Amino acid sequence: MTSPALAVHALSKTFGPKLAVEDATFAVARGDITGFLGPNGAGKTTVMNMIVGLTDPDAGEIELLGVRQGSRRRDLRMLIGYLQEKPRIYPEMTARGYLRFFADLYGIPDAGARVREVIERVGLTSAVDRRLGNFSRGMQQRTCLARVMLHRPELLILDEPTLGLDPNGVADMRAIFREMKAEGVTLLFSSHQLAEMERVCDSVVFMRQGRVLATGRPAELLPSGVSAGSLRLELYEPAAQCLERIAGLPEVERVRQTGLHRVELLLHRPGADSRDARAQATRLFSQAGYTVLSIDAAAPSLEDVFISLTRPENPDRQEPAGLVH
Ligand code: ATP
Repeated sequence: MTSPALAVHALSKTFGPKLAVEDATFAVARGDITGFLGPNGAGKTTVMNMIVGLTDPDAGEIELLGVRQGSRRRDLRMLIGYLQEKPRIYPEMTARGYLRFFADLYGIPDAGARVREVIERVGLTSAVDRRLGNFSRGMQQRTCLARVMLHRPELLILDEPTLGLDPNGVADMRAIFREMKAEGVTLLFSSHQLAEMERVCDSVVFMRQGRVLATGRPAELLPSGVSAGSLRLELYEPAAQCLERIAGLPEVERVRQTGLHRVELLLHRPGADSRDARAQATRLFSQAGYTVLSIDAAAPSLEDVFISLTRPENPDRQEPAGLVH
């Protein structure tokens, strides 16, 4: 059996009094796209920094591409690409100049051709000679992604690659991920854009408050992680009228407006199946004085699982199959 692209075992890190990462254990299979999920401050960046060697762990082990990390870390640098959160760009440089600079720094053979290749891969060919300072956020992000791909890494670790991107930018990023996967690259990326990114993940790792809560394939996590997903309701009254009232109910996890008379609702404890959840939702709206014209249930999304897992105050939540103890 081939070793995973990445395995971390019992990783811990403290910054002064702050326990940033506690006993984190998970693995990333070769060729997979793995989403690294968790609320702000969960410890994702710290784990990523430890994996690539920017931060020393206090305890635990890291195995990268089959090699246990220690003195041989240096040997692996050319096999890994790391995109940091909010990477630095040089506004006066053109995209081509910027990438050429790094290609030369890495000693990449035939640098000009490789720069053209990566620029094409991230869809920036027509803008290659424009200054980075004039690029949109999405274009800058794609340029930085091109930079970490220059040396053809086997494993790409990306911290919030979709931060600040609009839905089109996120869709472009997803397409790029799929192309890289098709070439055999392994990807681990952190994101808050769950709804947008879940379609691209082969597996996910959930973190909260420094601990890994669950790992696994989305299909393994979803059915038992959340018994019912969001509900879509059409109301007689304008949706805006009822949002505040409904959001304040203890049974309601999340409600958001999706149209003039439409809302999406996620219940705190949705019941055994979608029938129960729909009945409960209809009752809630009716008791609050609103008329439900139609209601249907969406399949649970990763976002639903994420909300249920990362809610700190729910002691009796139903736990998914891949839960890590
Ligand atoms: P985000 O999604 O906001 O980037 P994250 O999941 O990446 O969050 P980390 O940035 O790893 O989380 O932070 C985990 C915790 O460790 C936070 O409470 C953070 O304030 C703390 N922390 C991280 N780096 C340091 C540091 N260098 N010094 C002190 N505390 C730190």
